[in-house]
Amino acid sequence: MSYIPDEELENKEIVRKYRELLSVLYHKTNDEQRKLIRKAFVLATNAHNGVRRKSGEPYIYHPIAVAMICCKEMNLGTTSVVCALLHDVVEDTDYTLEDMRDMFGDTVAEIIDGLTKIEDLVLDDRSSSIQAENFRKIFLSMSKDVRVILIKLADRLHNMRTLESMPPEKQLKIASETSYFYVPFAHRLGLYTIKSELEDYAMRYTDPTDYYAIAARMKETEEERTALIADFVKPIQESLEANGIHAEVSSRTKSIYSIHQKILRKKVNFDDIYDIFAVRFVFDSPVDEEFEICWKIYKIVCLLYQTNPKRDRNFLTHPKANGYQSLHVTAMSKAGKWVEVQIRSKRMDEIAEKGLAAHYKYKEEDETRPDSEMDDRLESWLRKTREILNSKDADALDFLNEVKLNLGLKEVYVFTPKGDMKTLPAGSTVIDLAYALHTNLGDHCIGAKVNYNIVPVDKVLENGDQVEIITSKKQTPKTEWLEFVRTPKARRSIRDFLRSAQVGNITAESGKKSKNRELTLFKRKVSEEISNKSLDELIDEQLNATPNVFMLDEKYDIIKYVIADCCNPIPGDQVVGFQVSDDKIVVHQTSCPHAIEQMSKFGNRIIKTKWRKGQNIAFLSGIRISGFDRKGMIKEIIDVVSSQMGLNIRSLNIETKNNVFSGTLMLYIQSVRALTNLIQSLEKIDQIEKVERIGYDV
Ligand code: MN
Repeated sequence: MSYIPDEELENKEIVRKYRELLSVLYHKTNDEQRKLIRKAFVLATNAHNGVRRKSGEPYIYHPIAVAMICCKEMNLGTTSVVCALLHDVVEDTDYTLEDMRDMFGDTVAEIIDGLTKIEDLVLDDRSSSIQAENFRKIFLSMSKDVRVILIKLADRLHNMRTLESMPPEKQLKIASETSYFYVPFAHRLGLYTIKSELEDYAMRYTDPTDYYAIAARMKETEEERTALIADFVKPIQESLEANGIHAEVSSRTKSIYSIHQKILRKKVNFDDIYDIFAVRFVFDSPVDEEFEICWKIYKIVCLLYQTNPKRDRNFLTHPKANGYQSLHVTAMSKAGKWVEVQIRSKRMDEIAEKGLAAHYKYKEEDETRPDSEMDDRLESWLRKTREILNSKDADALDFLNEVKLNLGLKEVYVFTPKGDMKTLPAGSTVIDLAYALHTNLGDHCIGAKVNYNIVPVDKVLENGDQVEIITSKKQTPKTEWLEFVRTPKARRSIRDFLRSAQVGNITAESGKKSKNRELTLFKRKVSEEISNKSLDELIDEQLNATPNVFMLDEKYDIIKYVIADCCNPIPGDQVVGFQVSDDKIVVHQTSCPHAIEQMSKFGNRIIKTKWRKGQNIAFLSGIRISGFDRKGMIKEIIDVVSSQMGLNIRSLNIETKNNVFSGTLMLYIQSVRALTNLIQSLEKIDQIEKVERIGYDV
């Protein structure tokens, strides 16, 4: 895609963009303010004349786009738009800060000064050794006027939107910097829309494989999602109308980045994420009626659907530190999927989308008022914003705000995979539910998947759990089950079975013995900790005895490539090299959090890295296996790994607790493809429920 310059067309386009900007600003500006914007536009256009962006387009497209983001997406006014138009003038042209002061006054000059100084820090590779925390401090001290941060965010957003035309190393550096510095700022300021757009753009460059995989799955499931939401919303809307409430409905899917985070954090698959669906009801009302209407809509949702009180969020009486107000309730749709319902007024919605700027209704026509009054309002806004930016425990506050409605309940209700609800006495376990559903299910129950995670038979169920009972033909009721079941039905069924089928009991006993003998062949750890260990720790443990595996490339024969032991990339992974000394390059996965931090700090040390084709070195990697234990399981795993796939096992740790089996397998493997093959073969083994590559901590 190459850009062919055509000055006549370009000039037309510049004028068109400028008109668009003016039309968005028109209703909140007076003649004088519009004159000022025109002056800034003309000056910027002339100053950047003849200069082009990496994409080949005229440079002025960029400041105009940044100004547009400021007024359209952040609700900012004249001063910000003027500064956005001029933001690169002092940095990139012959104009000085004093010129700005003479032409546009002190406020504009000060903001441009802050923007220019930050630009110096970010773009200058000589200063790339600045520590993140220091950068944050400098950033704040340059931003005496909070508009500096807001305009800087708009600038970064436009750069991310147009990042495609940059060379790959630059893309990685800019993307890392974005997720490391700018995303937290956007979050603190409550600029949700901008924050998630920045996150998605950053992920597109740091983790393209997962990004495009999730994007493709989202597209595939779009139709299904739309139908589900429409079905879900219809009865609510009918009831709202019957009650005389007019609310606009919109549905928005989670961002690709947040879906990815959830997959990593909860260790689930795309299909298992149950809160991809979210609908929002936004109504218009006087401020003093907002809460009442919110709760009315809440009640309508609760009457129509089963809801999960554990996931209720009351941000009405407990707004988040950044000003976010909304009422959330999570309901089970008829299709058996959870849907998050957000209820809020138009005013609250503005704050949620555009942050504090909207909250303080900060409009710059106020600048025409006496200076002192203007200063007071601006000051209080700045103070509040700074408090939020400086507070380290904004998240702790959010946590305190969570309402726990389920305290003191004597019953729990849980859901089947199809969305049917079952009520059980508090303290009920997987076995209780299995018997409550069907005696046959109870008799053969070997465990369950609760919210998509494997649990043993004695797992106590909690309100709102979605439970899938797992059975095996060979399973029979056990005496020890009587120690934990809560329901009379389960107790009775287990006793009945034990009395009438003592022979079955003996068979089960002998089976258990031979399994024990088999397990002693392997190092056996009976503790919770193994499955919680991060790859970091596991690799550390494994590699302490032997040196790292080196990868060599023809171009850098003398330089040592070291595989980073935090993310342990193997051929096929997206990787980036990072020069740590003259003769040493550490290779990370591009999505590794350590790599992202390093790249954002030392961008000039990024080395473009690719795996050499056809190389035959094996790298240490790890997988985690879980399922329900049975005789012969270990042998089948070993068969697949060593006989079938011919892989070299470094170590195997197995833990069995209440029949739930989990293992960590460290092995040497050539590529992502080989690893995927291995995982697929292991998944086919009977009673193995989950096989996954061990990732880094998120
Ligand atoms: Mn810029």
